[in-house]
Amino acid sequence: MNPRTGIYRGRFAPSPTGPLHFGSLVAAMGSYLEARSHGGEWLLRIEDVDAPRCSPAAADSILRTLAACGFEWDGEPLWQSRRSEAYAAALERLKDAGTVFPCACTRRELADSALAPDGAAIYPGTCRAGLAPGREARAWRLRVGQARIGFDDAVQGRIESDLAAEAGDFVLRRADGLFAYQLAVVVDDADAAITHVVRGADLLLSTARQIYLQQCLGVPTPAYAHLPVAVNAAGEKLSKQTLAVAIDNTRPVLALHAALDFLGQRPPADLGRGTVAELWAWAGANWRLQQVPRGPATVSATVA
Ligand code: GLU
Repeated sequence: MNPRTGIYRGRFAPSPTGPLHFGSLVAAMGSYLEARSHGGEWLLRIEDVDAPRCSPAAADSILRTLAACGFEWDGEPLWQSRRSEAYAAALERLKDAGTVFPCACTRRELADSALAPDGAAIYPGTCRAGLAPGREARAWRLRVGQARIGFDDAVQGRIESDLAAEAGDFVLRRADGLFAYQLAVVVDDADAAITHVVRGADLLLSTARQIYLQQCLGVPTPAYAHLPVAVNAAGEKLSKQTLAVAIDNTRPVLALHAALDFLGQRPPADLGRGTVAELWAWAGANWRLQQVPRGPATVSATVA
């Protein structure tokens, strides 16, 4: 809840790298039901900031599937690809404050760095005190110093993070000139006055970075709830890379029922044979965030 306005504002922020699969349907459903059960708004944001990995066709397909599933979002979807000016302005503020620094390191030069839990290289600090003579800036990184971030996640409980050990100075503007996901998310959530972020627990490692960045930019920190990650029978997160199947637009109730079940809501079996409207009516009346398991959990082959 925004303490000044009393408004709950949530969002769903898919990356259009492929069609909507079960894992992203779970995030859409959890964020939607949490927002609606608080009488709040639910915004849609297409996270196409990483343009080379995204496609307009995938965005279009995601929007069609969400509509077929009966999701009703407030206002027009926001497209990150149209927000470069806002990201550039935020980066300028950080430059003025000295919280970011230019980095000349190439991927190869960072190849021997320690790895963060998410597999990214932890920056060894090479350019932190200034570029070596003759080197040119490629990327911009945020100084994390000795920052420690703690937050209470509504599903996962207390999370404590030591940013130097878990992330290091992370990139805000990439060598290819694109703004990094971390910056885009923080600027977009702040500009849209998002009060609650409900998303997959695969993003849990990003949250401490985002909270630190919010602090550097002087914007509010939303409340967080990270939903269990859906994995396939091999224990892999459902994603385009693991070839998760797209939600079948002609049978949305089946997928919605499976998502409700996955989120621990124990929907009656016959709800899966009814209409989309009936399913949402039941879900709206019975949604309990406290019933959501921490996960991760396996989903059946029919939806995975
Ligand atoms: N775009 C991200 C994804 O699809 C979600 C980002 C977020 O919810 O903050 O995984």
